[in-house]
Amino acid sequence: MVRILDTTLREGEQTPGVYFDNHIKLAIADILDEIGIDIIEAGHPVVSKEIFEAVQQLSAHNLKASIGAHARSLKQDIDLALECNVNFLGIFFCVSDSRLNHVFKKDLGSAVDQIAEVIAYAKNKNPDLVIRYTPEDTVRSPFSNVIEASLAAVQAGADIISVADTTGFMIPGTEHNLYDYVSRLKETLAAHNLFPKIAVHCHNDRGYALANAIDGFRAGAEIIDASVLGLGERAGIVDLAQLLVSLKNDFNLGNTWRLEKLPELYGLVSNYSGIPIPVNFPIIGKNAFTHCAGVHTHAAVKNPLHYQSLDPALVGRDMHVSLDHMSGLSSIEWALEKLSIQVDKTMLLRILDQVKSIGRKGRIVDLSELGHIVDWCRKHPV
Ligand SMILES: [Zn+2]
Repeated sequence: MVRILDTTLREGEQTPGVYFDNHIKLAIADILDEIGIDIIEAGHPVVSKEIFEAVQQLSAHNLKASIGAHARSLKQDIDLALECNVNFLGIFFCVSDSRLNHVFKKDLGSAVDQIAEVIAYAKNKNPDLVIRYTPEDTVRSPFSNVIEASLAAVQAGADIISVADTTGFMIPGTEHNLYDYVSRLKETLAAHNLFPKIAVHCHNDRGYALANAIDGFRAGAEIIDASVLGLGERAGIVDLAQLLVSLKNDFNLGNTWRLEKLPELYGLVSNYSGIPIPVNFPIIGKNAFTHCAGVHTHAAVKNPLHYQSLDPALVGRDMHVSLDHMSGLSSIEWALEKLSIQVDKTMLLRILDQVKSIGRKGRIVDLSELGHIVDWCRKHPV
């Protein structure tokens, strides 16, 4: 079993120009809950009154998922999060010497004291609160600093240590890979007799977010962060649909997710974020299960797995065949069968010719237009 934290409402709103009204946040959270997401990170309450209210409203909404707030390592942030009645709190503070010195004018020792103090403060106020501590930019910070802060955080009451690849720095197979990092972190904490859950938060700056998250999971991370469409700072983070489908399809997990709800969720988030779903986006994109070239279609209509490694039914979708300049006879036969239209071989060739000629203009023929082409061909025999 693995736990999934969706942060579309927190990290996703850090996408330039993205803002979700509170009623949309509620609608998004409802579908995330139906899918079976474990933790919904709802926002950072100190950012604005509206975000504070949204986190509070979501907490009161009685979802199965835990509702999480984001907080700096400051009592004012903790107090606001507690006022929202969240049952999950993510506290972050950097541990890199240069950032501490230049941004916060602090040394590591006083930063660690501050982290431990706010965690103990939050845990004391609500002993049932699940607390995650994130050493920001974990993987590029000195390992000894990460360990010092993590030990203090767990001893103060943190339940989870999140490994943040804040800048998308890690690359599988290199010396900086998340598998080795998570393994080393778990071993070092275990040597101190501490066994917090490990979360991974992977940014996608180099396109490796999902691969890194899987790497971290294989090394024993129990919580993986993701967002719808991978929304987030810069190039975003792990895409939720790709993560869930990979875990469901390729790892033998006991999780039961309602993946067929994903297209509805992506439609909602895309609509209200104003971020279009690229047609070639894996799993959810319009073309993700569409076959185009005649040779592909010829094999795919006999058995879709000839040119697909996933069953689209996994996410409630169907295989599709594109009708354009690349089409072959199999494409037309597939489409006519959908329309329950039967034609002879001569007519089939004429229809194919017509479809290809429209395709050469850069257009795709949809099924209803194909019906018109069939009518036209029948009324205008050669
Ligand atoms: Zn992030």
